[in-house]
Amino acid sequence: MHLYLHIPFCHRICPYCSFYKHTPGKTDLGAFVEAILDEARFAAKKNLPPLKTIYFGGGTPSMLSPTHLRRLFTGLRTILDFSAVEEVTLEANPATFTSRTAHLYEELGVTRVSLGVQSFIGKHLETLGREHSPMQAITSVHLLREASNLEVSIDLIFSVPSQSLLDWEDTLTQALALQPDHLSAYNLTYEEDTAFFEKFQTGAFQDDSNLNAEMFSLGEELLSSAGYEHYETSNYALPGRRSRHNEGYWIGNDYLGLGPSAVSTLKRTRHQNVCDTSDYLKRIKSIGHAQEKIEILDDEAWRLERIALQLRTTEGLPLKYLLPDANLGSINHLVRKTATHLQLINDGPLLVDSIAAELA
Ligand code: SF4
Repeated sequence: MHLYLHIPFCHRICPYCSFYKHTPGKTDLGAFVEAILDEARFAAKKNLPPLKTIYFGGGTPSMLSPTHLRRLFTGLRTILDFSAVEEVTLEANPATFTSRTAHLYEELGVTRVSLGVQSFIGKHLETLGREHSPMQAITSVHLLREASNLEVSIDLIFSVPSQSLLDWEDTLTQALALQPDHLSAYNLTYEEDTAFFEKFQTGAFQDDSNLNAEMFSLGEELLSSAGYEHYETSNYALPGRRSRHNEGYWIGNDYLGLGPSAVSTLKRTRHQNVCDTSDYLKRIKSIGHAQEKIEILDDEAWRLERIALQLRTTEGLPLKYLLPDANLGSINHLVRKTATHLQLINDGPLLVDSIAAELA
């Protein structure tokens, strides 16, 4: 059982981001934290099993003050079963990181900090609308290393508008110099309802699939030769440093989501909370939960989801999710069948979405 908390606040909004988020405005952050705890109390009535991993995402969870974070952690510990927790991740903004923050996170029980670095080149950070500089990102990692034993994960984005292959190599090289435990390298995508999508539609920004492929391969080459295991299409880890939380999602474990827009999947029933913070606060106060959408995942929906998620992992897709008459002929140079799984080989990881469509 995994727990995800969605903290939807950001200092400013990145033009490529499609998550539910907003600037805090007049939101009472103390009341927000109490609402999350109330929602956890409501969920705990279902006799949830012990938690294995916890993930504070958003938004920017590091925007919560030390007082609010302390209240959130201590409150959750009294409501949910933390006895089996193996990993606690918190997403943090490199612009606001200090050694006091690192001490606080460790004291609260965080084990892993995920830094949204995205690039080590100033002009790309500007394009992405990020508020931190390359130097602030580097300093954050050093602070984390010096002040704590927390694992460090760095998020990077490639195929940023105007980014060359050489620029991407520069960012990867600077990331490797920091020796993070874990690295995520995401291909920029143009999501609807973002400022980048509008520019994409007008032709101001373009998606170059050849350059995407070259950048993907360069990431694979540099990170793998530096000892990182490419354990999922966009994720790399030093031995023993995979994200157990994300692995739980991919293999289909149950998870509870708290906060505006958060999704929960328990016994193949999926709920999504309302994507509006003030509405979320009102619903929690009046009925104890903020679940708005419900979906029952039947066997076929479950199979398709496993294909979409597990095919992207090193272990691959369990063969039980292939249709009995699945014809691998057109993709057999991109996949390999072991006794138990179907795994991607050669250019397979690059073509994962079309291979998944072929198997659906
Ligand atoms: S990318 Fe992160 S920091 Fe930027 S708007 Fe989205 S959630 Fe906020």
